[in-house]
Amino acid sequence: MKYRKMKTLDWDVSVLGFGAMRLPTKKSWDDIDYEKGIKMVRYAIDNGVNYVDTAWSYHVEKSEAFIGEALKDDYREKVKLVTKSPIWLLEHYDDLEKYLDIQLNNLQTNYLDIYLFHALNQDNWKKIKELDLIKGMEELKTKGKIKNFGFSFHGSYDTFKEIIDSYSWDLAQIQFNYLDVDYQATIEGLNYAYSKNIPIVIMEPLRGGKLAESNEELEKMLENAPSKKTLVDWALQFIWNHPGVSVVLSGMSSLQQVKENIDSANNSEPNSLTEDDLKFINNLRDYYKKKIKVHCTNCKYCIPCPHGVNIPENFNLINHAAWTGTVEDWVQSWYDEMDDDSKETDWHGKGKSNLCIKCGECLEKCPQNIDIPSQLEDVRLVFEEEKPIKDFL
Ligand code: SF4
Ligand code: SF4
Repeated sequence: MKYRKMKTLDWDVSVLGFGAMRLPTKKSWDDIDYEKGIKMVRYAIDNGVNYVDTAWSYHVEKSEAFIGEALKDDYREKVKLVTKSPIWLLEHYDDLEKYLDIQLNNLQTNYLDIYLFHALNQDNWKKIKELDLIKGMEELKTKGKIKNFGFSFHGSYDTFKEIIDSYSWDLAQIQFNYLDVDYQATIEGLNYAYSKNIPIVIMEPLRGGKLAESNEELEKMLENAPSKKTLVDWALQFIWNHPGVSVVLSGMSSLQQVKENIDSANNSEPNSLTEDDLKFINNLRDYYKKKIKVHCTNCKYCIPCPHGVNIPENFNLINHAAWTGTVEDWVQSWYDEMDDDSKETDWHGKGKSNLCIKCGECLEKCPQNIDIPSQLEDVRLVFEEEKPIKDFL
């Protein structure tokens, strides 16, 4: 395993962290397969991983309890343990500690190495300031319940910079991969935090698994690549090539993935990719971008829509269809559930494309300048009129 200094924290942290949000499951997403999962977590730790990241909300609030079990038998002390405060549930100052106590109990530990405000954006950031939650975090630190605190982030670069400048954070966690160099915190945000000595942890290195998906064209590209690597390895090495990155979190779902990611981590080095490597990654980026129907970055600035359309989720689903070139059954039923009150859709929410009345109120809110009503009409045609997705690419 390779390790990097976590700047201000003075830790040697494994470049690969275990992200507990895509664990193996049985019947449903909240039914974690403990036997397989525990094997994976402990294999990772036995092979040098020393950073484990979870959150209140992962696996429908079941991930923390799982990690509590996985870290029994002295594994807890071998890792830096991180979880996140569910900001959206906090209504009062005292709620911060109230939820932390439940989380510590679930995780079967007395303290966290790092506690993060979860998924900050402009709205959550405002709430943190209104409820004075940074002071709350400082108090938790004084009490010894947490050792460090920071935030995970899903907003715009400007908000990221504002948050970074507002406090001397112990750590920031951002979404970053070779498709998202200009999305959310962006590569500028990564470099900015680095220049301020704030350790950066990366999430979504494979963009929710998209950058691991292959097909014949990609296999051909790999055959002619400047060096022999898998798609996953290219994606991970791209991130580790940045010296500002401390840890890359991978949400692994099988022991095989754990082993492959550890192999990649063992071969990582900052500034090690050649010009040809970087050109090849640019080609991969161009290829993936072409397979994305709507360049929605899921920033959610456009919602709530006054007519109840869940705009980003509709775009997420049509992008799934664009990638595979067809509407897979699970994607169709996911869409169908978006107006089915008997189904739990907390995950992704309700609000089908057919609710759009084309009022245009959302247009000026979209930083990507997407023609939202027209793209929603395409979603409706594909999912409700069975028009082939290929007609829209
Ligand atoms: S154009 Fe459609 S999606 Fe946009 S605000 Fe109006 S109804 Fe909602
Ligand atoms: S449609 Fe635009 S504003 Fe809405 S989530 Fe996507 S990128 Fe953001």
